[in-house]
Amino acid sequence: MRVEEGFQQVPFNEGNPYTEDPALPFLLRRLIPPRLFDEEIEPELKRFGVEVITNIRAQSSGSRISPPKLVQYDNWGQRVDELHTSEGWRSLKAIAQREGVPGIFYERKYREHSRTFGFAKALMMVGDSHEVFCPLSMTDGAARVIELMGTEGMKREILPKLISREPSSAFVAGQWMTERPGGSDVSQTETKAQSLGDSDQLGIKYSLNGFKWFSSATDGDIALALARTGPDSDSSKGLSLFLVPLRTPLLGIEPGSSISNGIRVHRLKNKIGTHALPTAELSLEQTFAYLVGSPNQGVKNILPVLNITRVWSAIASIGGLRKCLAIATAYADVRRIDGGRKLLRDVPLHVAQLASINLVYRALTHFGFGVVVLLGRVECGVASAAEQNRLRMFTPLIKAFAAEKAVAAMEEAMAGLGGQGYMEETDIGRLIRDSLVERIWEGTTTVLSLDLLRSTTDPARLKEFVSWCNSIILSCPPGLLKGVQEAIQSLQGRLDSLLAAFLHPVSSLIARSSLMFIGYIASAIYLLEHAVWSHNRGEEGYEIDAEVFRRWVNESGFVAAEHELDRTRAEAKFADTSNSAIVFGRRGRAKL
Ligand SMILES: Cc1cc2nc3c(=O)[nH]c(=O)nc-3n(C[C@H](O)[C@H](O)[C@H](O)COP(=O)(O)OP(=O)(O)OC[C@H]3O[C@@H](n4cnc5c(N)ncnc54)[C@H](O)[C@@H]3O)c2cc1C
Repeated sequence: MRVEEGFQQVPFNEGNPYTEDPALPFLLRRLIPPRLFDEEIEPELKRFGVEVITNIRAQSSGSRISPPKLVQYDNWGQRVDELHTSEGWRSLKAIAQREGVPGIFYERKYREHSRTFGFAKALMMVGDSHEVFCPLSMTDGAARVIELMGTEGMKREILPKLISREPSSAFVAGQWMTERPGGSDVSQTETKAQSLGDSDQLGIKYSLNGFKWFSSATDGDIALALARTGPDSDSSKGLSLFLVPLRTPLLGIEPGSSISNGIRVHRLKNKIGTHALPTAELSLEQTFAYLVGSPNQGVKNILPVLNITRVWSAIASIGGLRKCLAIATAYADVRRIDGGRKLLRDVPLHVAQLASINLVYRALTHFGFGVVVLLGRVECGVASAAEQNRLRMFTPLIKAFAAEKAVAAMEEAMAGLGGQGYMEETDIGRLIRDSLVERIWEGTTTVLSLDLLRSTTDPARLKEFVSWCNSIILSCPPGLLKGVQEAIQSLQGRLDSLLAAFLHPVSSLIARSSLMFIGYIASAIYLLEHAVWSHNRGEEGYEIDAEVFRRWVNESGFVAAEHELDRTRAEAKFADTSNSAIVFGRRGRAKL
């Protein structure tokens, strides 16, 4: 039989990522003032949705995207370090910049809603973006650092380029923290900075020497780097933050020219995913750089980058899941089983599988945009002290929680397509590979769980979180309460468990289990907040919002997270030694 003969599968149609999204349009309608939403935001997102499935998808197709290539030497043996990225990668980056990422965030045309609008666009595009939002997220973070603490020259010359919508002159920024001794802990940073006793319009000049182990925006224009200005014994307190030009001169020549300024690309990383992204190892030899902020305050000064890239990472996890869910849902519309008599969409067991993925997507989207709203409010100076505290607590939480939950749901979506799901052409495999990095970069889940633990060591902060949860629970009107009473009681019981778990002393062994537990609680509260809103407004489908909340609270993952927290708490006293025995055998760790 020839391939054109016999059974021919009807292709699936993913549809507009805005109008077909099960959560985003309704959520944004709640978060954004009605006139702004109806007249500007929604029409723009509908247009952008068409752009994603036409032009953007065409740029992200396999033939236009390929891994970057590094040419280290020319034909005369001279070191040149030319980095060649693929045409599709460059086009996707240019489209994102033209669409206002990260420009929207700094133009602040929509004031505190600018973050919500810009991240909605990112959520829709990220699954087709081949990780261009990785360098753009660091560009966003660098823009914020310069806005907060850059020199006047940086604000005048660099900031407008970082947020520009004109790709031919826009700058991209990287972030160089990780070195060979450690990314989670930068206290052993080897890169040394020496003052050149000189300055120019951008600031005070230093010379940097060292080795940066991971640089993902290697095709960028500048990087924010940590380097040592104090003695080694000062550990992370002796680190300062620098703006490093990737080429000299930085201003006045076309962006994207070859790397210079004493920077050598030692090697491109051989990664399991994010293949189009040029992640490299770099050596710095007499690389000149400008001090940003006060000396020896580098770890504190780079925090705005981390806080922004962590929110970006969460949106990337959720956006990857969005695309996988859209594919699996669309496939159910065209794939027949049972002797060709039934579409998958009419098979209850299959639809139950899709519903469980959909539930994770909704919970993460509501939580993710809850954090985005807080970020927008803090940046625009309209956040209360309690909102600022919540953003501090939620930033590591949403990054790690989304990364942990999204990939498992993406794997379910893959299985929903049977054998086709495993084929590269559907893109689900690439999305899973790419999303796995979200569990590692900008802080592993373990490291972020310790950060979350630190942010909650102040009992007042945890109580403030619980009282925010209770205020939303109390806003539940009687008509809605009838259907979700049991779920609300469970949730209240879990809030009590949380307070009990954080009675001092708190063992670090509960860090990961409490991260997952608090992640479930926060996402449930955001789902409830939405259900209350849609119930009060009599929104179409408000019963579904209540049902989503109810199921999320009863979902096996939430119940298991509570048990896991109980278990790790109870075992904390002796688990350390028994874990060691399990991992390293009866004799314990080998002493080196
Ligand atoms: C694709 C990719 C791109 C990247 N791009 C960049 C970039 O552009 N710029 C940049 O600066 N970095 C970048 N990174 C580096 C990334 O941020 C680090 O890999 C990450 O922070 C972890 O650091 P590490 O690799 O040194 O691991 P380590 O810090 O050595 O961690 C190893 C293990 O130890 C655990 N661990 C560490 N500390 C603790 C602790 N206190 N308690 C318990 N467990 C602990 C971790 O959870 C992990 O499981 C990138 C990484 C990847 C994979």
